[in-house]
Amino acid sequence: MRITIVGAGFSGSALATQLASTEEGAPEVCLVGVGDTFARGVAYGQARPEHLLNVRAGLLGTHPDRPDDFATWLSLGLRGRDEFLPRVAYGDYLAERLREAHEAAGNLSLVRQEAIAISRVGEGYRVHLDDGGYFASDRVVLALGALPPQRLAGIGPRLAQSPRYIGWPWQDNALERIEADARVLIVGTGLTMADVVATLAARGHRGGLTAISRHGLPPRAHAAVPGPAIELPPSIRHALGGRDLRALLAAVRSLVHVAPDWRSVVDGLRPHTQAFWRSLPDAQRARFLRHLRSHWEAARHRIAPRVAEVLASLQASGQLQVRAARLLRAGLRARAAEVLLRGRGQVQADVVQYDYVIRATGLDTDIVRTTHPLVSHLLDAGLVVADPHGLGVEVGDDLQVRDRHGAPVRGLYCLGPLLRGRLWEITAVPELRVAAAALAATLRADTRSSVRRTGDGLARELLLSAGL
Ligand SMILES: Cc1cc2nc3c(=O)[nH]c(=O)nc-3n(C[C@H](O)[C@H](O)[C@H](O)COP(=O)(O)OP(=O)(O)OC[C@H]3O[C@@H](n4cnc5c(N)ncnc54)[C@H](O)[C@@H]3O)c2cc1C
Repeated sequence: MRITIVGAGFSGSALATQLASTEEGAPEVCLVGVGDTFARGVAYGQARPEHLLNVRAGLLGTHPDRPDDFATWLSLGLRGRDEFLPRVAYGDYLAERLREAHEAAGNLSLVRQEAIAISRVGEGYRVHLDDGGYFASDRVVLALGALPPQRLAGIGPRLAQSPRYIGWPWQDNALERIEADARVLIVGTGLTMADVVATLAARGHRGGLTAISRHGLPPRAHAAVPGPAIELPPSIRHALGGRDLRALLAAVRSLVHVAPDWRSVVDGLRPHTQAFWRSLPDAQRARFLRHLRSHWEAARHRIAPRVAEVLASLQASGQLQVRAARLLRAGLRARAAEVLLRGRGQVQADVVQYDYVIRATGLDTDIVRTTHPLVSHLLDAGLVVADPHGLGVEVGDDLQVRDRHGAPVRGLYCLGPLLRGRLWEITAVPELRVAAAALAATLRADTRSSVRRTGDGLARELLLSAGL
């Protein structure tokens, strides 16, 4: 049995280390990833020192049974375990754990290539690489992360091609070219905006920064010291079981008024979010995405207190403005980008000049609009089908993808942010490692039953050939 994992970010590396084994009969595991972010992925491979983790160090182990493994690897004391450390340190940890697993296990091979196509051959697959090579695999896991960002709606073609538009702020030190006095428009007010502002502040930026989104909500800050976990009262448990978003919202609002810290309510909901999302009818999911998503994300995806302080001081000085507004259109002029912006609730739109426009609208998971070569190929071949809300691919409970007819594609799995349509809460380490462990267990069970099936088949053949 050979299992190929395509994508060597957190998800792919965590799954590979969990499947790495010295046991005889263990499946052969092949991890395929691109060179510059191998083992670290986008989040921890292209980070700068000012980019901090948004989860405390003591909770970031790659395996759900050892959440303190990262802190132990760094020999952190009790205080250090509550800190928000630089993301580059986490990338080092992931690379080291993968290297150890590779050296210790006999069944793990690492391939530094992009996979450009996957085709079905009999019961298995053929994985095609960008150097023209290919190999056979019985099972394939798509651990591709989020998709390359699409151009923002309203951005004219000349601006999109010009250095004044930065579509992927983490890539190739894209922010390095911004002059200290430049006027910058950041489209998006979430975690990516926080990264961009932290980097510009660290570089001594002096020019004005405007960040816009539909609701104009920046991410909230973690408490400096973690608060106690909260026991969810019956009103919330009842609403969670009732598949009713409105009832849940009402129950949460009343609890937040009496809870010692609203963060404990959000954290208390987190273990239930996946089951609640799965239970919601499509129309309620759409309503959540339209009206509540940005409120939930600001409260749920919180930033380290140190990053929050940077944002707050820039806001207090007036250098950073966070606004509820929409970019209607933007084009390239002789010396700047000219942007048509409309504030929330306003009828009139304003024309404003910026030196740079940065896309910071978060993880792209829309497989229909993507230019990702492998995902486009799988979609065209009908081997995957899009979630109706643009939240990745459709899968079953076992994370096996569905084909264009809705049928399970045997042996083709997905892991990571492209599972948002199924699970919603599946972008951060604590949820991803649980999904990786569950998939590792499925694949191990699959290997055992395949070996048994092959064994049974062999026994039957022997009996037949012996005329019994
Ligand atoms: C900037 C940023 C910061 C974050 N910070 C945190 C944090 O502090 N804490 C937290 O819990 N979560 C954080 N996250 C969430 C993050 O999504 C997860 O922690 C995790 O990194 C996701 O891992 P992944 O492997 O699913 O995706 P990725 O890390 O994106 O990895 C996928 C990898 O697959 C590769 N790939 C894609 N297609 C192919 C192909 N065809 N062939 C070969 N390779 C391919 C990609 O190049 C990439 O290296 C952050 C995310 C981002 C983007």
